[in-house]
Amino acid sequence: MSQAITSRRDFLNMLAFSAASLGLPHWLSAAHKTARSPNFVIIFADDLGYADLGCFGHPTIHTPNLDRMAAEGAKLTQFYSAAPVCTPSRAALLTGRLPIRSGMCSDKRRVLFPNSGGGLPHSEITIATALKTKGYATACIGKWHLGHLRRFLPTHHGFDYYFGIPYSNDMRPTPLLENEKTIEEPTVQTTLTKRYTEKAIRFLEQNKNKPFFLYFPHTFPHVPLFASQRFKDASLRGLYGDAVEELDWSVGRIIDTLKKLGLAENTLVFFTSDNGPWLTKKLQGGSAGLLRGGKGSTWDGGMREPALAWWPGNIPSGSVITDLASTLDFFPTCLTLADVPLPKDRVLDGYDITALLKRTEKSPRDTMFFYRGARLFAVRRGPWKMHLITQAGYRDKPHSHNPPLLFHIEHDPSEKFDIAKYHPDIIAELMRLIEQHRTTIKPVKSQLEIYN
Ligand code: MG
Repeated sequence: MSQAITSRRDFLNMLAFSAASLGLPHWLSAAHKTARSPNFVIIFADDLGYADLGCFGHPTIHTPNLDRMAAEGAKLTQFYSAAPVCTPSRAALLTGRLPIRSGMCSDKRRVLFPNSGGGLPHSEITIATALKTKGYATACIGKWHLGHLRRFLPTHHGFDYYFGIPYSNDMRPTPLLENEKTIEEPTVQTTLTKRYTEKAIRFLEQNKNKPFFLYFPHTFPHVPLFASQRFKDASLRGLYGDAVEELDWSVGRIIDTLKKLGLAENTLVFFTSDNGPWLTKKLQGGSAGLLRGGKGSTWDGGMREPALAWWPGNIPSGSVITDLASTLDFFPTCLTLADVPLPKDRVLDGYDITALLKRTEKSPRDTMFFYRGARLFAVRRGPWKMHLITQAGYRDKPHSHNPPLLFHIEHDPSEKFDIAKYHPDIIAELMRLIEQHRTTIKPVKSQLEIYN
């Protein structure tokens, strides 16, 4: 025991080692379990609306497993994705940086397409790459959408294993990849959620003895919708509900597996969506409930997501967190919990929200910037949200507002009542905030405008 004890974790490991070798009581050996770096599972739905889960108020979609996650963990009611469409939203989640900083957005093309030649630049650090430095096992199972050319695949961005489709399920061709190899084309989508889940469970079982990071971006409920035989026609909400209920089943399988493997207390599971519901798809799209707008829009319906965090023994059960938080916060939170230093050579847009999840402190985040493509459309600080530009949905025209629109989001979550004229001081403060933010943005080449 001459080795220097440098941290609490080292101390606990030493204690556990001594307890085991001396045959001391169980509670001492248990210290080893809690001292291990936590595992992370991020489950990411595609185009799921704010109001599409039972625990977020949907009247007929049945989501008992997600509701259980909320009951045993926390529900976050003011949680934002970093973009209103797939590609930029995913880039931001994995890097903790606004897509404008990585070139993963564009005003000309909303997302990457099968003829795209770009992808997440290798100068970016993903959560997976960072966690690899601490020996984490890493897997991405599901829709990638950060570059389908070999050099941009998950296996080139810190993931040991990949199984899934490289972009959206409405793009052709739709190959199914395992690592870098196409194993099916076109992908049989009816069994996709089931197959993703089986692969995810196998990954958890295979890595139960070391820290792991499972990034699990589901294909659904993005259109075209599919559900396996067991879930087809099972929901009162039609095929959309079927697809969501199958996702719920999948989440239940993941949670049950973690419990069965004895990993529940050491695994932080997060569930959310990449952007709001695709409203123009009508019955095939979801619902943002009382929030205005949907996918493609910087109204809250486009970027405020249903969000659940589960980590028994760490997150108090039944918590409802109304503070601001974002997918941008995953990067610093995971790295900090894993004892990985945050990179100092770049601007990060996320915050470590561990204390918020444990309910010991308020959120470090009070501001959210809303970009559509490469343009800043709106900003929120505290309860105030100011729009410089608005765009109803996917294909509508943008409208500039001068003076800007101002909403008190907590009084008026539907962004119905513009109260800018009563609060010139707030407008001035938010304009200063934007000016300051803009000084941190350096021009980079858009990856979405590169063709293959
Ligand atoms: Mg999406």
